[in-house]
Order: sequence, then C-alpha cells, then structure tokens
Amino acid sequence: MISQMRAAVLQGINDLKLGSVPVPQLKPGSLLLKIHACAICGSDIRILKSGNNRVKYPAIIGHESSGEVVMVGEGITNFRVGDRLALGADIPCGRCIYCTNGLGNCCDENYALGYKFPGAFAEYCLLEPIMVNYGPLIKIPDSVSYDEAALMEPLACVLNGFELAQMKVGKSVLIIGAGPIGCMGIMVAKALGASAVILAEVDEKRLEEAKQFGADIYINSRKDNLIEEVKKMTLGRGVDGVFTMCPSVEAHEQAIELVAKRGYVNLFGGLPIGSRKAQITSNLIHYKECFVMGSHGSTPRHNKLAMDLIATKKVDVGRLITHRFGLEEIKMGIKVMENLEGMKIIIKPGGIPTS
Ligand SMILES: [Zn+2]
Ligand SMILES: [Zn+2]
Repeated sequence: MISQMRAAVLQGINDLKLGSVPVPQLKPGSLLLKIHACAICGSDIRILKSGNNRVKYPAIIGHESSGEVVMVGEGITNFRVGDRLALGADIPCGRCIYCTNGLGNCCDENYALGYKFPGAFAEYCLLEPIMVNYGPLIKIPDSVSYDEAALMEPLACVLNGFELAQMKVGKSVLIIGAGPIGCMGIMVAKALGASAVILAEVDEKRLEEAKQFGADIYINSRKDNLIEEVKKMTLGRGVDGVFTMCPSVEAHEQAIELVAKRGYVNLFGGLPIGSRKAQITSNLIHYKECFVMGSHGSTPRHNKLAMDLIATKKVDVGRLITHRFGLEEIKMGIKVMENLEGMKIIIKPGGIPTS
C-alpha cells in the first residue's frame, strides 16, 4: 500500500494548495475508499471564500463523492474490498435525540464529511467507524457510474426539502434559482407529479441552460417582476410550494409573497455570512395560514432514496454534469463554477479515463 496521496489541502481562506499528504491510517471499524468522483458543491466555494466554523485548517474538503473500497478495517463484515460506495455528507452521531429519531442532519454533534471529517478532494478518504455504522453510505448499483453516484448527496438534500414541503401529485411548484440544485428540483417536482413547475432565475445564461430540464414556465426575474408575473399566471392565488434554491435573501422575501394559502415555503439555500436580514410581512404568513420552513442536508434514508431514483433514471442526474477535471485542475473547476459556466463539475482524483 502506498503511504502518500495527492490531495487539495485548504490552508486558510482562499488558500487551496495541491500537495502530497499521508494516506489516512486504517483503524478497526473503518474503511479506506479510493475516490473516483467528487463534485464541487456551492458550499465548498463558501468554505473556500469565507471559512466555516466546523472546518479546521489544514483541511481536505469535498463531500459529494463516490469511490471504491480498497482496505477494510478489523471487525467489518458488511463491506469488502471492491465495493462501490456513494457517500452522504451529514453523518449521524447515532446517540443524540435527533439521530436516534432518524434525523442525522439535525445532529447536535454535526460531524460531516468535508467539514469535521476530511473530505474527498483527495485520492483516498478514510470512512470513520461512525460513518461505517450510521452512514450515509450507499452501495452503488452496477448501472450507476461513479460520477452519477457523486450526485446522490445533493439529490438527497433536494428530496429532504420536497418531503418537508409536503409536495405531492397535483401541487404547483415555484423554484427560485436555476443552478444544479434548482434543476434537480425541477426533475424531482416532475417525478412527484407537480401540476406546474415555474423556474425563476436572474442570470439569463443559467435560465437558458435550465430549459432542457423541462419546467413549464421560465421567468427571468432580473428582467421581469417575479411577484407580478407569478401572481398574474396563478390568478393571484400564488404557488403551493416555493423553494429558494439560491443563496439570496431577496428570494426568501419573494417566497413569502408568492406562496398560496395553506402553501409551503422551503428556505432551501443558506445565505452567505453577512447577508442582510429578510424583510417579510409576517401578517402574510398569518392570513395565508402558510408554512415556512428550512431544510438543511439530508438523512441516510434520503440518500438511499436518491440512489434508487438515480438508478431507475426517475431523476437523471447525469444530465447535470457539464465538466470533469483531474484533481490537479481543481482550481480550474472552481473557476468554471464561480463563473456559472457549467452546472455540475466533477473532480476525478483517480484521473479522467481516456476512451
Ligand atoms: Zn453539497
Ligand atoms: Zn446526533
């Protein structure tokens, strides 16, 4: 077994360096995974730009990942060398009140791959015993590629949001934000049988790209007044489920205005540190009897469900992948993402197969 590996190591804010670091030491109850794919998430960019109190330097980040088991620690019976695994990010501690009730994403301990535990922008990643025990660790069906499997985690987060917002057949949906998460949102809304899916986005290029995912109505909310447009098309009624799938406080405000009576607002996208406070007319919530909630991460159950939807192509996440880069080119991948030139960007620490 080799002792050194290539990794992208975060040394501080805006300081990501490629280097050689020791391969993590296998311990009883753990697994060593050779990483085949790790997608860049919007939250990775936020950690890079402004840090995160769960990330201590030097750190290896990256959580939307998949790989192959290359070493199995003592005592493990349910995994073996060669198993193909997809990783979720929110790792339950298994002991707190939330985890014992299946809500690992609400865990007080808040471990997470690529935050408290070293992540997957590296050739190898150690899966701690706690992750082997409690997940989210999902075996990848043969029909699913490593690149698709790396998108299980963000899809699981979207499923958590839609589940919390009680979305079901016949409901109308408004998604604000046409990034990869918003486009996954369109696919999930359609899989759930939404009566209409409206997508709003401020960036024209993004909006154009999102058209292939098949929402019913696309609105450029920089050019057109989103509130007026949606009210007009719903005859003043508003939308049953509004999802803010972008890091924008304006979206939070618009969502409260646009939700229907007895509808659901899911504040899905977190806001950057330092964002101003939302200005909402709380009486709207009162009179509409609407439900306003957040959602954050996903549970192992959502990850399993996400993998099932990927395997059956009910949600074809592969369509979101626009770029693939080797680990050495991770900075290029980050730049593509920041410039909104692509949707999902996959980093391939094992190199990109040429065929
Ligand atoms: Zn993510
Ligand atoms: Zn817990």
